[in-house]
Amino acid sequence: MTAQIINGKEIAAKKRIEIAEKVAALKSQGVTPGLAVILVGNNHASRTYVTSKEKACQELGMNSLLIEMSEDIQEEELLAKIEELNEDSTIHGILVQLPIPKHIDESKVIETISPLKDVDGFHPINIGRMMTGQNAFLPCTPYGIMVLLEETGIAIAGKNVVVVGRSNIVGKPVGQLFLNQHATVTYCHSKTKDLKLHTKQADILVAAVGIPNFIKAEHVKEGAVVIDVGINRNEAGKLCGDVAFDEVSEKAGYITPVPKGVGPMTITMLMYNTLKSAAETINRY
Ligand code: NAD
Repeated sequence: MTAQIINGKEIAAKKRIEIAEKVAALKSQGVTPGLAVILVGNNHASRTYVTSKEKACQELGMNSLLIEMSEDIQEEELLAKIEELNEDSTIHGILVQLPIPKHIDESKVIETISPLKDVDGFHPINIGRMMTGQNAFLPCTPYGIMVLLEETGIAIAGKNVVVVGRSNIVGKPVGQLFLNQHATVTYCHSKTKDLKLHTKQADILVAAVGIPNFIKAEHVKEGAVVIDVGINRNEAGKLCGDVAFDEVSEKAGYITPVPKGVGPMTITMLMYNTLKSAAETINRY
């Protein structure tokens, strides 16, 4: 079997058109969605991500505000800035680009962002609301994965889903979203014994490990849906995922490539969450 490619770039572009239309409608009601991004320090990768987020805001007609803070900023200053943005009615989404310097408590930073503006979906209140199936900001990469499957017409209820990786931003929440949609979910991680035993049961296999080409054909059931979250560099410095694409795509039914798979969905869902937050202010006030 040769897998069908799930084209994240195309699906993201379609979603962005829908978002831009809704932004325009909201603007005609007097509300322009605004996203504030705080960048602490001068991490090259973080700066690239932040620039992409600003660019996406501009393309979709949203306002973006970039706040740059120096590497040695005190925790209180960062928390005070977040509190100021919490009170700013022109800002509907706030995100602090991670990672932040070690001397600042990441949990404190996340919990200072108002849950009503937590468009990354990292605040414990949003995580709890997601777990209990209530209205919440869903974390962007996991949410993007669910949209990819929905747009591809892949049913989830009753499927065996295996998630490799249990980070708070990808592995854990994506498993929860699958559970919310009635899948049977197994989590695998660095302490899992006999990984293959589990992954071979997967109708849908999600790889969020951060190791280039970690998932091989031998891990995959014939015809499975394989979602590759990884963004890595191989020895040649080329972008690659966690899945050995060439061999796995000979066996899987569907597969996401890297690049142009999950990646483009993450910022798209961030834009969606910012739009959602802005739209909800109309009902709130
Ligand atoms: P992480 O390092 O926080 O977590 C990695 C997980 O992999 C851990 O839970 C660990 O238990 C598991 N793991 C490590 N070695 C393992 C092994 N030998 N067997 C089984 N499990 C093992 O990483 P993360 O933040 O979840 O990111 C994972 C990957 O996804 C990275 O490549 C990252 O760059 C990428 N990522 C992509 C996007 C996107 O937008 N596409 C967003 C976030 C992360």
